[in-house]
Amino acid sequence: MQNESPLFENRRPGAGGETPLGPDVPEITMPGPSLGNGPPLALLTTVTLSPIVVLIGMRISATATLAPVADPWVPSSGIAASIAVQTLADSPISMVQKDASAPDSSQGAQVTMYNVNSRESETFVLPYDGVLSRADQKRLTHLFRCKRTGHELSPDQGLIKVLAHIAKRYDGHVLEVVSAHRHNRGTSRTSKHRTGHALDFRVQGVNVKDVRAFVWQMQEPIGLGYYREQKFLHVDWRPVDGKIAWDQRTEDSAYKYWPKWSGGDPHKKAQKAAKAKAKKKRPSRGKALRSSQPQV
Ligand SMILES: [Zn+2]
Repeated sequence: MQNESPLFENRRPGAGGETPLGPDVPEITMPGPSLGNGPPLALLTTVTLSPIVVLIGMRISATATLAPVADPWVPSSGIAASIAVQTLADSPISMVQKDASAPDSSQGAQVTMYNVNSRESETFVLPYDGVLSRADQKRLTHLFRCKRTGHELSPDQGLIKVLAHIAKRYDGHVLEVVSAHRHNRGTSRTSKHRTGHALDFRVQGVNVKDVRAFVWQMQEPIGLGYYREQKFLHVDWRPVDGKIAWDQRTEDSAYKYWPKWSGGDPHKKAQKAAKAKAKKKRPSRGKALRSSQPQV
């Protein structure tokens, strides 16, 4: 049965439409690293390895390891590599070619994505600021197209930022695209898949609970859904609604919001704490009466 009521879909989103947008979604802050807002992806350089290049690279690596790492997302080896490339680009030795498609590990994370529906594979460098080059945006939009209608919509910058950090954390693993953009009639009107803000995915060779824990500790406005039976995660970017988590046991079962693995509903927790505090402050009625009576 297809139910077009957005209210119904908010309360119990179906497997096809799914993304909850509950009106009571609280704004919370979770501990953990935040995504950096780096500069847009600059022109990248390709280095043809030769003994001279390796020597220069090694020397710079040795000095760079002494410098403090300012950005927790950028490892010292990444800084060393980028300094080495930069120095070579400035040098008169013409071994460096400017190439806009070459990866730069300090700006983004390389990942191969495999669309399980179309069986297409594409490799990207996902920039940490979520701003893709025009060519990459076109390729990713095509890979993320609606599997039922073929409709294409550019994925949101916030979603790409999150994916870049997942790609970095699971470097070398293929990211399986289960469902990205949806534009078919059965998709809920409130679904974040409709607007290019959501992705259902798996990381090949990694336990889904491990990926779930990594994504959830991000201090970002994300929705995170765990689909136990189908063993995939839904992640979306929701700056207006704030962070929320849910869990679905089987394909037909209702969502359980704020499951245990998310640490529980922070809104309810705050209410409970406030109540307990108020109760502690207020003396009981009997006590108050007794203390106001004259001592005889
Ligand atoms: Zn989803």
